Amino acid sequence: MRGSIVLFGPPGAGKGTQAEIIVEMTGKPQISTGDMLRSAVSQGSALGLEAKEYMESGQLVPDQVIIGLIQDRLEDPDASNGVLFDGFPRTIHQAEALSEIAEVSAVIAIEVPDEEIVNRIVGRRMDPETGEIYHVSFKPPPPELISRLVQRKDDNEDTVRMRLAAYHDQTKPLGDWYSNMGILSTIDGTGSIEEVSKSVAKAVRSL
Ligand code: AMP
Repeated sequence: MRGSIVLFGPPGAGKGTQAEIIVEMTGKPQISTGDMLRSAVSQGSALGLEAKEYMESGQLVPDQVIIGLIQDRLEDPDASNGVLFDGFPRTIHQAEALSEIAEVSAVIAIEVPDEEIVNRIVGRRMDPETGEIYHVSFKPPPPELISRLVQRKDDNEDTVRMRLAAYHDQTKPLGDWYSNMGILSTIDGTGSIEEVSKSVAKAVRSL
């Protein structure tokens, strides 16, 4: 498949984790706007300074900032045969802008109810050296790594609820938009990581 794939779903649905198997199966590079913004924030760049407050309060970063970021990234040579978008687009406006610059061939939506999202995100921990994501109960880290793990600043309950509100108001309507285009596959994201990976792999094979 030449076009790009969009991995769609609420924060904490497992998009970052499931992206790995799609990258492995398709060879398409993963583009995560959340990762790009976090790296800009930690470098203290102008983009990072602009994005920081929105991210820490659980709001979406303005569309024009995100669209500019994606336009630049899509010019890199590794993006020429399509990419895997993770966490983008998140508004109808972003999706419209994307449709002008790249072809989206498939959208894989991972569905998880809000209360489970809150449990998942609050227990999430990241290894800053490898970028690997763990969960205190669902994917326990090796004991020797525990002391260096960090929690994302926006992974606390209040901010998660804000992020979920932004998802329901601004992002979820996009699911219908892509469904009307006939390119949406929906996956139940409530099982174990392995169970969800199996469903994702099945959806990718059927593309
Ligand atoms: P994520 O890691 O995808 O959950 O993103 C973390 C935060 O980065 C979000 O809560 C937003 O503040 C911001 N962000 C990431 N991707 C986007 C996007 N496509 N549009 C707007 N804001 C975004």
